[in-house]
Amino acid sequence: MAERVYLDHNACSPMTRSVVDALRAVLDAPPVNAGSVHAEGQGARAMLERARRDVKRALGVRGGTVVFTSGATEANNLVLRGWPGAGALVTSRLEHPSVRTVAEDLGRDVVWVPNNDGGRLDIDALTAALATDGVAGVSLMAANNELGTRNPIEAIAAGCADAGVPLHVDAAQVVGRLPFAVPDGVSAVTLSAHKCGGPIGTGALWLRDGFGVEALIRGGHQERGRRAGTEDVMGAVGMAAALSHADHAAWQGLATVRDALEAALVERLGVAVNGSGPRLPNTTNVSFVGREAEEVIQALDLAGIAVSAGSACTAGSIDVSPVIAALGLDDARTRGAVRISLGPEHVTLDVPSLVDRISNAL
Ligand code: PMP
Repeated sequence: MAERVYLDHNACSPMTRSVVDALRAVLDAPPVNAGSVHAEGQGARAMLERARRDVKRALGVRGGTVVFTSGATEANNLVLRGWPGAGALVTSRLEHPSVRTVAEDLGRDVVWVPNNDGGRLDIDALTAALATDGVAGVSLMAANNELGTRNPIEAIAAGCADAGVPLHVDAAQVVGRLPFAVPDGVSAVTLSAHKCGGPIGTGALWLRDGFGVEALIRGGHQERGRRAGTEDVMGAVGMAAALSHADHAAWQGLATVRDALEAALVERLGVAVNGSGPRLPNTTNVSFVGREAEEVIQALDLAGIAVSAGSACTAGSIDVSPVIAALGLDDARTRGAVRISLGPEHVTLDVPSLVDRISNAL
């Protein structure tokens, strides 16, 4: 039987060797409660604080606060629900549900920045929104998990800084894969460990000094009062290892493989490519026009190929991904959209034989 090919790194990029080694190194004497005052507790605290410094280094910042969380979902909830000050939130319909649906739920006015059919935001509309009174903040992603499209975060940050409006960036799909230095004008950044080879169930929110969000989870004084609960030292250590050993060149090199795969899928299977402009190098979103995404995913899974879609299949009916729906494409293209996301092990992927397998499976 042919080997399985895992093409779902935007859902989870499996732990790298250096992360496993870093975790193994602490398994013989696992950390105890980092809040304890005794020597053992202080040893755990030292590990946690070292991990915090590593996160800051990965973000290219010296100051600010790193709050460890259970993932990017919690980090997004923490910043959105705890956002300081009254006023509207500016965001987009292309955000991850942990931003999009939370924004709808805040009780604040929400200004939705429009996008085109390639998933690109209307920056003029954003600029116009920033010029209005009563905007408390902006939350936009660095790169879209379904389409791979990248937002011009530097320019957006400059616009927000000019307007004096705080900006939160969900960088879950970027940090740990590609170089990312927090621009001036960004007040908060979301990270996720398992998108870049770290352990599943760990993330972080970086907060610029002076941008004080209110805690979501309350109780003890952990994480400087921003997130109560005994700290997950192992998760933090694993995340720090993933960020410190990030292989940016390998991720960047995937653009060539992705482009070859995309071109072959267009030529041999007539797919339509979704998402335009700058994209993550590992991601392609293609529509098998006239087929249901779920059917394609299941056929490929049986053939040993793991891909996904933003859609969820509930009791036989298929929910179309809100992100793909927000592109406003025709129904057949919307329903057939499938995401293929590569990882560092695919630098040498045999594209022709993969496309043969996909073609046979379908
Ligand atoms: N934001 C983005 C852009 C993501 O891609 C994801 C994961 N799909 C999340 C947030 C949620 O991350 P987590 O799984 O760490 O909660």
